[in-house]
Amino acid sequence: MMMNQSDGHNARSDVMTPAQRSRCMSKIRGKNTKPELILRRALWRKGYRYRIHYPIEGKPDIVFPGKKVAVFIDGCFWHGCPLHGKKPTNNSDFWRKKIERNIRRDLDVNIALREQHWTVVRVWEHEVADNLDAAVSEIVTVLEA
Ligand SMILES: [Zn+2]
Repeated sequence: MMMNQSDGHNARSDVMTPAQRSRCMSKIRGKNTKPELILRRALWRKGYRYRIHYPIEGKPDIVFPGKKVAVFIDGCFWHGCPLHGKKPTNNSDFWRKKIERNIRRDLDVNIALREQHWTVVRVWEHEVADNLDAAVSEIVTVLEA
């Protein structure tokens, strides 16, 4: 492989192997940069108070009991995000089935909560990462409705 020494950026990105990089990324993510924590902090800063570990169907990540609003932050891979949910090939049948089960369960949870008059908001992990403001205002819109 040719390394272009004159371009520091390209050279830098070749320093880590994919495995090292993913270990590194998960280390970064583990430190309070989980999407649900980022979203909670943003809502808290705006003055919204919520509950976590609230005992209702599906264990929502953020719950506003007074308004009966339940928010889930769905991981792109595990919940089959249309943008980032991998289309698994060959031997990843196991993962595909697992993800399909998750998607089905998410729908069941939505139905169960709505039957109990909860408003369910689902936010993709990537929405928090890419456009936190939009994710926050989506929830605020529901809360203020
Ligand atoms: Zn995604």
